[in-house]
Amino acid sequence: MSTAVVVGSGPNGLAAAVHLAAHGIRVRVLEAEDSIGGGSRSSEPAMPGVLADDCSAFHPFAVASPFLAGLGLEEHGLRWRWPAVQLAHPLDGGREAVLWQDLGRTVARLGADGRVWDALVGRTARAFRPLVGDLLGPVLHVPRHPLVLARFGLDAVLPATLTARRWRGDEARALFAGIAAHAFARLDAPLTTSVGLLLAASAHAVGWPVAEGGSGALARALAGKLADLGGVIETGVRVTSASAFDDADVALLDLAPRAAARILGDRLAPSTAKAYSRYRHGPAAYKVDFAIEGDIPWTGQYARQAGTVHVGGTLEEIAGAEAEVLRGRMPARPFVLVGQQYLADPTRSEGGINPVWTYAHVPHAYSGDATEAVVSQIERFAPGFSARIRATAVRDPAALEAHNANYVGGDIATGANTGLRLLVRPRAALDPYSTGVPGVYLCSAATPPGAGTHGMSGYRAASRALAWLARR
Ligand SMILES: Cc1cc2nc3c(=O)[nH]c(=O)nc-3n(C[C@H](O)[C@H](O)[C@H](O)COP(=O)(O)OP(=O)(O)OC[C@H]3O[C@@H](n4cnc5c(N)ncnc54)[C@H](O)[C@@H]3O)c2cc1C
Repeated sequence: MSTAVVVGSGPNGLAAAVHLAAHGIRVRVLEAEDSIGGGSRSSEPAMPGVLADDCSAFHPFAVASPFLAGLGLEEHGLRWRWPAVQLAHPLDGGREAVLWQDLGRTVARLGADGRVWDALVGRTARAFRPLVGDLLGPVLHVPRHPLVLARFGLDAVLPATLTARRWRGDEARALFAGIAAHAFARLDAPLTTSVGLLLAASAHAVGWPVAEGGSGALARALAGKLADLGGVIETGVRVTSASAFDDADVALLDLAPRAAARILGDRLAPSTAKAYSRYRHGPAAYKVDFAIEGDIPWTGQYARQAGTVHVGGTLEEIAGAEAEVLRGRMPARPFVLVGQQYLADPTRSEGGINPVWTYAHVPHAYSGDATEAVVSQIERFAPGFSARIRATAVRDPAALEAHNANYVGGDIATGANTGLRLLVRPRAALDPYSTGVPGVYLCSAATPPGAGTHGMSGYRAASRALAWLARR
């Protein structure tokens, strides 16, 4: 029986482990932290009994993931819960843009701008399933739906700011800009439309659900599946050298490339060692979890029902704040993502106290205190918010990296999304998962299709490892 060691138990590490174990490989997962899940963990950071997601919160790409969808994870306790409104985007003066899963309702509320929303986002949503099959794979492959992919590509290459100007009103422009800002890139950079378009379309196609009982439920379900297949996970084991997996036939590294370079040392070809060591990380998240009495008193009625609220104002404001962050400067009014997961999953609250999950986009490795900036951005659209805060827990970029070594400098996307890096990760190579060391593969979000809890990097890397084993 062939053996595998998977280093790291994030969604990609666990997906790789499950795929290998399902093919009869004896799998051991080694996880540095005391708990499994990497970016898919939950805890009670602000107040006992009030459950917050440590990292990932909303899971359109886990629901849409061709690999995860086929695993029967519901048998291992995974339940998706959808909020009534997927996303609200408040603007000054009590205005708000709203994204429902229902495309028609979203289009109708956008008024004159609805037609373009339907033509662009609606068309992508209608082609979502075939698109996802192609887009969640590596860039260099033979597409199964070339026409759909080509059509998407024509829109996707544009900067998000240019695409957003196809709308006239502040609402549609801001709505799109906030979604595109998930790229953690300058919004006037080419290809940033791809992120906005795909994420917006996912809201219509599959919604932005949360996991009942917290995002840790996804990791627990994958671990349950792995256990059924005979795989084992050891926590509290930080891998620092290749000797940890020398005895295995294959090794899958759910790691940032620089860590892989340190571990593999001179086994790597010099060009790969150079690419991994110089791998660029992007801006950081500054995470603030609140425990609040009751609900956030948003001025807008739909923000009060939304799982996600994007707080950052107009297209121009968001684009300006993101550009500052990319320049390494902290904006006075950062882009803030607010998660109200408890609206879809009330099991997370305790005695009228609700968890509010937020993070701001800040410069890479930012060492200042952004808590006040987060509070005042929310207060701007929800006067009276501060008075409801009962407890606060902060994870700055350094704390995020301490929590998960893959988040170098607080970069939660495991890599800068600048230029072609959005597509070509972690280095220009025909096989982005291969480290070049026989039997050793990189499977983290640093490889295609990038950040998110889809597990597809793990699945694709494990497929490469299986093919290599078959050829041996
Ligand atoms: C604040 C925040 C919000 C996010 N929001 C979302 C969201 O809403 N939706 C979404 O889809 N994604 C979101 N993400 C991103 C998502 O969490 C990641 O893209 C995803 O977890 C990447 O999975 P991965 O398996 O590649 O790596 P990770 O989840 O980062 O896991 C890597 C694992 O490897 C372990 N490890 C590292 N070094 C070693 C070592 N030397 N030895 C052993 N183990 C090691 C780590 O401890 C960790 O468990 C968010 C992330 C953060 C931090």
